[in-house]
Amino acid sequence: MDSFTLHTQTWHARLNALFERQRQHQYTVARTTARERKAKLRALHAALIRNRKAIRDAMWADFRKSPMETDVTEIAATTGEIRHALRHLSSWMAPRRVGVRLPLIGSTAWIHYEPKGVCLIVAPWNYPFNLSLIPLVSAVAAGNCAILKPSEHAPNSARVIKAIVGECFAEEEAAVIEGDVEVAQALLELPFDHIFFTGSPAVGKIVMAAAAKRLASVTLELGGKSPVVVDESADVDRAASRIAWMKGMNAGQICIAPDYVLAHESVHEALVERLEHYFKRYYGATPEARQQSPDYPRLIHDRHFSFIKGLLDDAVQRGATVRFGGRAVAEERYIEPTVLTRVPDGAAIWDAEIFGPLLPIRPYQTLPEAIGYINAHPKPLALYVFSQKRDHWQHVLNETRSGGACINECGLQFINPNLPFGGQNHSGIGRYHGEWGFQEFSHARAVARQHSPWPTTNLFLPPYRSAFVKQAVNALIRWL
Ligand code: NAD
Repeated sequence: MDSFTLHTQTWHARLNALFERQRQHQYTVARTTARERKAKLRALHAALIRNRKAIRDAMWADFRKSPMETDVTEIAATTGEIRHALRHLSSWMAPRRVGVRLPLIGSTAWIHYEPKGVCLIVAPWNYPFNLSLIPLVSAVAAGNCAILKPSEHAPNSARVIKAIVGECFAEEEAAVIEGDVEVAQALLELPFDHIFFTGSPAVGKIVMAAAAKRLASVTLELGGKSPVVVDESADVDRAASRIAWMKGMNAGQICIAPDYVLAHESVHEALVERLEHYFKRYYGATPEARQQSPDYPRLIHDRHFSFIKGLLDDAVQRGATVRFGGRAVAEERYIEPTVLTRVPDGAAIWDAEIFGPLLPIRPYQTLPEAIGYINAHPKPLALYVFSQKRDHWQHVLNETRSGGACINECGLQFINPNLPFGGQNHSGIGRYHGEWGFQEFSHARAVARQHSPWPTTNLFLPPYRSAFVKQAVNALIRWL
């Protein structure tokens, strides 16, 4: 047996042992009270604040991401989710009494939210802390054990995530396993009760197929091409400021980033001009200044750089116009925020999720034309509409489908923990954040209790000969 095989067998055995320990421990965790779970969440909150510098340093090392953006999108987003859970967990956990219909009079019924058991959380690289730890908050709040696998493409962040979780949890309750695709596949072989996956639709299908083998439930938080509609009544300046913000943030490597813009032909040129204005304002007036901006990060790895550069080159070769940006520096994995117009159909940028700082803009003449374009593609994760006319944005909402939607702003639908966050079909299955996350990691167990000395069910015991029972059944069908 060579040393590689031996090594592989060793970590497989370790994974199995860890999983088995969590499986044994799950009922102890499930029995914890709201108070005990809150104490764990408070410990996680404190660890995030204690490790703020380590988190910022890791994000700089992985992405060259500004500390301010890390504070907001990684730390504050996660601590905010924890504080929301601390405020509401007791009521989420309380059994929910439900009514009983007249024929069941004498019984009571309620829903008991019980943990699913041992859960696997597989995270992507683009917001490594946020997208690993917020699902973990939901899993812990719901009383589960969990194994978390961060992405191998943000290794510095993965190390800090492991340290933070190690500071707060015993391994038999929550543990972090670092590793690549091979490790993810080994984890998918284990009989988890629930798999929470965030990543690409292609890998989402692999995860769902693996879960199907054991009929494990899944949450799939996937991606897709999120459109922006800017109609003729829109405040174009506001629209441009928000689109440029969400497209520049994390260099467009955001699942809910505007992927492409459908702009009414009467505002198309003004929008391009205002986008240029805001990209310059946010990141610098000259290409050199933008490249040096401490607020603009890099693409995560060389393969992703080549993919985005390939989309840009393909569009330009097919005749697209670069209206702003276009600079790409391979050694730094830098691609400037780039606005493209006149991109012909058939260009790869119209098919693939861009997940980077390229923004193609497409003019439209009528709203049904824009809606038709959106509906010709898989349901996106986010849909943005900039319009001052209620009947316009309402019409777009009514006639399209997406995971979430946001009007006259970008990203609000993600940051409000009272809203569910998730996709539909190609952009995902299931939802989380706040109570939605608690429920996603729980099984809603239906419980009914009979406490009548003369239960109505007596009437329906065989043999079915009584005329009275026949009348009762007739009444049941018609009125009760
Ligand atoms: P990815 O699917 O390549 O990887 C995600 C995770 O899956 C990683 O931990 C990786 O190790 C693991 N993985 C990769 N290949 C695997 C395989 N064959 N079998 C098992 N596991 C495997 O995604 P990514 O590149 O890290 O992230 C980008 C994608 O994620 C984009 O499509 C983006 O839209 C999506 N995303 C979605 C959300 C959301 O909340 N809906 C958030 C962020 C990113």
